[in-house]
Amino acid sequence: MNIVFSSRVESPERWFALLEQALPHDRFFAWPEVNGGDADLALVATPHEGLFSRLPRLKLVQSIWMGVDALLADPALPHHVPLARCIDPGMVAAMGESVLSDVIDFHRHHYLYRRQQAEKKWKKLRQYMAADRTVGLLGLGELGSTIGAMLRSFQFKVLGWSRRLKSVAGVESYAGAQGLAQMLPKCNIVVCLLPLTDETRGILNATTLALLPAGAAVVNVARGAHVVEADLLAALDSGHVARAYLDVFETEPLPAGHPYWAHPGVSITPHSAALTEPRTALPMIVENINRVRSGQAPLALVDFSAGY
Ligand code: NAP
Repeated sequence: MNIVFSSRVESPERWFALLEQALPHDRFFAWPEVNGGDADLALVATPHEGLFSRLPRLKLVQSIWMGVDALLADPALPHHVPLARCIDPGMVAAMGESVLSDVIDFHRHHYLYRRQQAEKKWKKLRQYMAADRTVGLLGLGELGSTIGAMLRSFQFKVLGWSRRLKSVAGVESYAGAQGLAQMLPKCNIVVCLLPLTDETRGILNATTLALLPAGAAVVNVARGAHVVEADLLAALDSGHVARAYLDVFETEPLPAGHPYWAHPGVSITPHSAALTEPRTALPMIVENINRVRSGQAPLALVDFSAGY
């Protein structure tokens, strides 16, 4: 099969050596080469402008990222061709480590001890057990369900919110607007792991943040637009939200003058909570290429109507 790679940020060289080793009989080429338009499959993340209009024979668009909101927002994306997400176990593990480190930083008061160290202050703070803390996960998909299990293994209480009620071992499930309103008041820490859709944009806003108990922490590792930034800053300024761990932002890179940079209640990482890891993403992508070859349905197809 002919497989074209197009990304304005990911380099094809990182992928081609692995792909060519796994699939020696297929042909891989990188934009701007499009093999005269005779490509069966496109591997993409932030694809180049004009790519899709030059590929009339595509059988699958395979994202090399887990989040497909940017692709779905691209007016050039063909909707008659199936789109598959990349489910990368390495990326899921990395996200688990990132969320766990934020949760533990808050739970063990490390952010407060860092402040005390800056003031050369020696003062023990009240200890909580993990079982005293409730973590609410917004999104119980590939990331949320794995991270839920990880947090349970540390004895945290875990609640999860999804579009449909779900059965995840040890995780109390909530769904819909009413479920969110029931869940948030119970959460000492809320972690956003949602896809960005019309329904989830701005989900963490003045109304939902006010439902959290005073002194809660917010972790956003999904997309910046899930949070209404002015509302989160107001909640941090009032002390209602004690701390925000933010990996994603409305505008990236975060502009130099943004109030988050200097806010004492905010921890910032540069959209690095989980990066695609070609070594661990490869098996699923190879499986999907082979499925297209044999006429089987690819894995992890995006539901265009749901937007994820
Ligand atoms: P996923 O498997 O598609 O799971 C999405 C979850 O969100 C599902 O549980 C889904 O509910 C729920 N959901 C969707 N719309 C909802 C709504 N309107 N109300 C309530 N729940 C809703 O996605 P994933 O693989 O876990 O990834 C989630 C997101 O993480 C990605 O879309 C991406 O934006 C982000 N991400 C960020 C990074 C980073 O480095 N910061 C890295 C990877 C991914 P159902 O279960 O009912 O369908």
